[in-house]
Amino acid sequence: MAIIKGSDYLERINKLQNEVWIGGEKVTGAISEHPAFKGIMKSKAALYDLYHHSDKKDLLTCWDEKTNEYHSFSYSQPKTKEQLRNRRQATQLLARESGGTMGRSPDYINTAIMSLGSGGAGMPKPYGDNARKIFEEAREKDFSFTHTFINPQVNRSKHYMEYSNEKIIGAKVIDETEEGAIIHGARLLATQGGITDQLLVLPAGGNFIEPSFVYGFAIPSNTPGLKFLCRESYAHGKTSSYDYPLTSHFEEGDAVVVFDHVLVPWERIFIYSDPSQVQTMYDETNMNVLLLYQAVSRQAVKSEWLLGLSEWMVRTINVVEHQHIHEKMSEMIISLEIMNSLLIAAEEEAQPNKHGTMIPDIRKLGAACSYYQKTYPRLVDALQQIGASGFISLPSEADFHSSIKEDLHQYLQAANEDAYERVRMFRLAWDLTMSPFGSRQTQYERFFFGDQVRLSSSLYMNYPKEPFVQQVQSFLKKR
Ligand SMILES: Cc1cc2nc3c(=O)[nH]c(=O)nc-3n(C[C@H](O)[C@H](O)[C@H](O)COP(=O)(O)OP(=O)(O)OC[C@H]3O[C@@H](n4cnc5c(N)ncnc54)[C@H](O)[C@@H]3O)c2cc1C
Repeated sequence: MAIIKGSDYLERINKLQNEVWIGGEKVTGAISEHPAFKGIMKSKAALYDLYHHSDKKDLLTCWDEKTNEYHSFSYSQPKTKEQLRNRRQATQLLARESGGTMGRSPDYINTAIMSLGSGGAGMPKPYGDNARKIFEEAREKDFSFTHTFINPQVNRSKHYMEYSNEKIIGAKVIDETEEGAIIHGARLLATQGGITDQLLVLPAGGNFIEPSFVYGFAIPSNTPGLKFLCRESYAHGKTSSYDYPLTSHFEEGDAVVVFDHVLVPWERIFIYSDPSQVQTMYDETNMNVLLLYQAVSRQAVKSEWLLGLSEWMVRTINVVEHQHIHEKMSEMIISLEIMNSLLIAAEEEAQPNKHGTMIPDIRKLGAACSYYQKTYPRLVDALQQIGASGFISLPSEADFHSSIKEDLHQYLQAANEDAYERVRMFRLAWDLTMSPFGSRQTQYERFFFGDQVRLSSSLYMNYPKEPFVQQVQSFLKKR
């Protein structure tokens, strides 16, 4: 069971009958057949099937002597630099299936669960033991997760605290029973909410003074009282791979998560009530560093795609001789080289933590993440500047099969592609950057791991700057 197939994933999620709301209706029946989720669930299933391909198996699976089983690489604790590199290559193999647009390929949150399992021994009892058991079950069953760590966007002024017990907004503990804690309220923003086996809930920043807001747990997505309120689907009715090459396959969906008096069993809780446990959990597990490592690996693949796509565009409409095109293309190259270099440097400077997990260098990954938040929208802008009206003169697949097809073939041809291929390429570029799916991609990368301001601030505050200050000061002292 430890490595599931795509069909296992689909059957399992259908059976869960998670409470998912979309377009004013509750999803009933097989969610994998619902127009909003069909494409992404099929694409996820295809990722699970890759684990069984004879030429991919070695990279994507790891043998575990204790359990006597193969597991997903994402549930395997990396103990050496080589294992870390394999992990990056496996993540990138999966990411290349979607050009890095599937932010929540299962290896993302699996990585968080693996870090909980391997660092649980350093967390206070019984929470550390719970973390380990959550990990062991997830690894054995090859569970997929969605996650949430944000309170609703009500009032983000620095001093705002939600105190009222009458009108609860941010999810909090409202009661305790022998079986567990009762959680009521809402959390943002679960990408793929409703189409995963489980939900991982991490502490939300900014509310650590009030113990009822301090918790971390993992529960099945069909836990009674748990609701996923999804935004409008960008994929609904957009099934043509020619017209919507990315939307039709990789539209993940995002959901507000509502906890309506949800009973969270004690054994599923790994942080509870005590704010100091939050820092302990992050220190012991290095969860954030390992998550960043997965994400930066995926983002590097996205940069590969942007470079490949823009170069194809440059050749297609033959704009290669213009100097500003070189400048824009050089930005694509620089971004790819920076992301790859930071990844390799993070691996080279990795150190084992006290639980034996090889942890990549956080300074390199923090720099990569902050850099990409600002760079990705610039790359999108560069691509749009290169393609100009090509992003707009986009007939559909149906047009190419209609009586106007000869006009289209004549007037939409390009220097180096026929009209059909030219439009196919531009539709891909449009879907990556301008369609609702594409606009979300830009917003996703902008806000990945938090907003730019606070992420840059954290990089600055935590960076060891002292040696550099001393270097400059000692230069002057010698004079
Ligand atoms: C497409 C997408 C998918 C996402 N998927 C997930 C997911 O799967 N799981 C999940 O948990 N989250 C997810 N998120 C949420 C993401 O983590 C947050 O968007 C991000 O952390 C920023 O929080 P916020 O949106 O609440 O912004 P806010 O905190 O509301 O910020 C709004 C503005 O105010 C500024 N601001 C607010 N507070 C401060 C401050 N203290 N100092 C300086 N500036 C401040 C911000 O910089 C920003 O400009 C997703 C977001 C997007 C866009």
